[in-house]
Amino acid sequence: MKQPNNGAGKQRGAEKQRSEVKLRIIPLGGLGEVGKNMMAYEYNGSIMVVDAGLMFPDNDMLGIDYIIPDFNYLIQNRERVCGIVITHGHEDHTGAIHHLLEAVNAPIYATPLTRGLLEVKLARGGLLNQVKIHTVEADEMAEIGPFQVEFFHVCHSIPDSVGLGITTPAGLVVHTGDYKFDHTPVDNWPTDYAKLAEFAGRGVLALLADSTNADRPGWTPSERVIDPAFDEVFRTAKGRIIVASFASLISRMQQVANAAINHQRKLAFAGASMVENAKMARKLGYLDMPDDLMVSIDQGLKMKPRQVVLMSTGTQGEPTSIMGRLSTGTNRQFDLTPGDTVVLSSHPIPGNEESVFRTINRLIRRGAHVIYEKVAPVHVSGHASQEEMKLLLHLVRPKYFIPIHGELRHLHQHSLLAQQLGIEEERIAIIENGNVVEFSGGQMKVTERIPGGYVFVDGASVGEVGPAVMREREILANDGFMVVNLTLDRSSCRLREEPEIITRGFVHEPDAEDLLAGTRRIVVEAVNCTSNGRMKGDLEQSVKSYLYTRTKRRPMVFVTISQA
Ligand SMILES: [Zn+2]
Ligand SMILES: [Zn+2]
Repeated sequence: MKQPNNGAGKQRGAEKQRSEVKLRIIPLGGLGEVGKNMMAYEYNGSIMVVDAGLMFPDNDMLGIDYIIPDFNYLIQNRERVCGIVITHGHEDHTGAIHHLLEAVNAPIYATPLTRGLLEVKLARGGLLNQVKIHTVEADEMAEIGPFQVEFFHVCHSIPDSVGLGITTPAGLVVHTGDYKFDHTPVDNWPTDYAKLAEFAGRGVLALLADSTNADRPGWTPSERVIDPAFDEVFRTAKGRIIVASFASLISRMQQVANAAINHQRKLAFAGASMVENAKMARKLGYLDMPDDLMVSIDQGLKMKPRQVVLMSTGTQGEPTSIMGRLSTGTNRQFDLTPGDTVVLSSHPIPGNEESVFRTINRLIRRGAHVIYEKVAPVHVSGHASQEEMKLLLHLVRPKYFIPIHGELRHLHQHSLLAQQLGIEEERIAIIENGNVVEFSGGQMKVTERIPGGYVFVDGASVGEVGPAVMREREILANDGFMVVNLTLDRSSCRLREEPEIITRGFVHEPDAEDLLAGTRRIVVEAVNCTSNGRMKGDLEQSVKSYLYTRTKRRPMVFVTISQA
């Protein structure tokens, strides 16, 4: 067959052009931290977002409910966003979804359980009717803009989790999401090893893999080891059992249900998110519970303590959660009773350890028998440890490797593991939020950096609380404040009366008199020798340095000046 020359030329030109189109990978959250996962894949003008998570605040982030990624890049390019893929239903992958949807209008792709959990969340925010959600199953493929996305099953601590094989003309990228290699998972559905090997057969340009446990040697235990631990708890508990976990830990609900059946207890869920998630998971067939196992929380509270197990949220020491309120005796619906056994079936998220242990101490002080991870294996990690990470790398055999989902130390450790397996350092990109990686002509390059910081959510305000406000809250919390009210004579600019000084949160009683007298002296002297508008700032400065020399503290100082 004769082919016109110009046609072939055009085709070659198109191919050349295509190979020059870059695949950009832009981490917007979850790299350099544990939480608020969000990754953008960009090819030929289209952007696909993977996950939209939140992060819980550190203890020193006062008044902050949670933190979401800085996705300004997506807002600026909102008409180019072609889809949002959610790998699984955990908060660190779904918790920012309504914030993202308020800014970007694109369809969501999720497996049935993940979809169910998203719908519960979106319905609460009134967004459910405004968004198109496509249900995808493991083993299926979806065309999302220029991205061919193959979903493959991975084990994690929630059913229906998937990893992604993302194909563009630039090559095949494998994105694991959160995973572990559990051979005996609670839902009997192991990670799809065959698919990973098949990807390797096709040739994988880059692997992006979960680094959470990169500093943990060996294998993560199977979720099954929890069953005997629960069995022991249920066998020995004399009174009521209260199990605290995450509202999205569906497989843990299943394990508690199994133990309840074996030990003739009824199960009641406390808290709206737990009740709604359990209802949805049962409807979709991810939770197998006979109807007569469940009782409402009201019924459960009326039953004999030995006959019931309650499940609630609040494993992270959050003061407003049910567990937090039980620890301080401020829960409205019910309180701890003597003989209660409390099981904390979770691991403290990094940064939360202190408040988790404080909650445990309070629960013990209030008479509860508390069982937590360090005492009995009532929790196992949902993330791969070092040997699983090595197996993954051998199965997938990527040309380039990008550790994701972890603090810098985890990413670094994951990179060292990969190097042990023979992946050269030049083929590994340790990057943090905002670091853009580009692939073109089969080569990887770390390029520019775009903003990738924190957006604080404080009640109804999103992003209005900035670093300056956080600093002020920190100072107020640590060192308190002092207000100095001055009344000046309008004509002479002299003090008309003694300065009024108010302090909160930093003066110790015995030192108070002396310190306030000293402050008053400084203010009086400064006023008498100053005569211009800079006085307020100067006064605040000199009071601050006086207080610092006397107390080694830096409270906020406000001076108000009125004239009479
Ligand atoms: Zn997860
Ligand atoms: Zn995660």
